Amino acid sequence: MADDPYRVLGVAPDASDGEIKRAYRKLARQYHPDRNPGDAAAEERFKAIQAAYEQVESPQKRREYDEQQRMQSMFGGGDLGNIEFNFEGGAPGGIEDIIASFFGARGSRAPPGSGGGGVIFDQHGRVKAGSSQPSGRSAGSGKVIEAPLDLTLDEALAGGDKQFSISRLRRCKDCHGGGCGACDGNGVSRRTSKVTVNVPAGAEHSSVMRLKGMGHEHPQGPPGDLLLSVRIDADEGRRWEDGRIVQTVEIPYSTMLLGGEVSLRTPTGKLVEVKVPAETQSGDRQRLKGEGYGGGHLDIEFELLATEHLTAEQRALLKQLRDSGL
Ligand SMILES: [Zn+2]
Repeated sequence: MADDPYRVLGVAPDASDGEIKRAYRKLARQYHPDRNPGDAAAEERFKAIQAAYEQVESPQKRREYDEQQRMQSMFGGGDLGNIEFNFEGGAPGGIEDIIASFFGARGSRAPPGSGGGGVIFDQHGRVKAGSSQPSGRSAGSGKVIEAPLDLTLDEALAGGDKQFSISRLRRCKDCHGGGCGACDGNGVSRRTSKVTVNVPAGAEHSSVMRLKGMGHEHPQGPPGDLLLSVRIDADEGRRWEDGRIVQTVEIPYSTMLLGGEVSLRTPTGKLVEVKVPAETQSGDRQRLKGEGYGGGHLDIEFELLATEHLTAEQRALLKQLRDSGL
């Protein structure tokens, strides 16, 4: 199995799709064979970056990857103590609900991973009923659906109605759950639902919203819930870290060494001037109080501005610097 694509790309598992794309572009540029001729290690890295990105490049592929990981951490090691949920606190019902939903109805005969209650994991969009008996016959409730809710910074700040489509199991219209030819005897079939969710103004990145009854429907029992994990795209040059935005600020080499001023655009669109201390290094940070998302702090991280082409004058001056021992 390939490496964790999020780790290879240097992003958090809850990073927005935009952030992933930007991280990929940056790394691909950095390790591109054209820029590293004859460097086998760079080529390996470049291939790993490509492979990682392929796993998560579209929302669809990413959903599949995330679902696969969840399944593996559930059933792979058989050690429930190690389950990691990407959802942070606050969800009413708690983790017990989620586990119950993954293992199907209470008292289900099917061992984990055998297909019992496996509907949610079917990668092909098919209804996959429990091993010998259609899941529709047993008592229970619909499975929970976990899905990301992608928002732009502006959408998250302002809040409001957000519409999206989700594929979920609905009770069969023809047999009302009893099982018929139209639903292959399952009592449910996969259909696309349009969902509108009211996003609270200032919604937090990585927070979870629970939509009661909007998960998979069950032939007889109550429907499961839909758990939406909020992902806010912090936009170009920014990423989330522990609920705070970290913004990369590129500064020229001379400013790094000598200090100076740099202007930047904060996440709320404000233009601010920041003092760069002398002898700053790549990776040094500063905290701008109240300039972050929703009035929180904004951490800025200085990074060396890449120089693509030197002028003849710059080249001559650099030679002088080299001769001086720098
Ligand atoms: Zn039916």
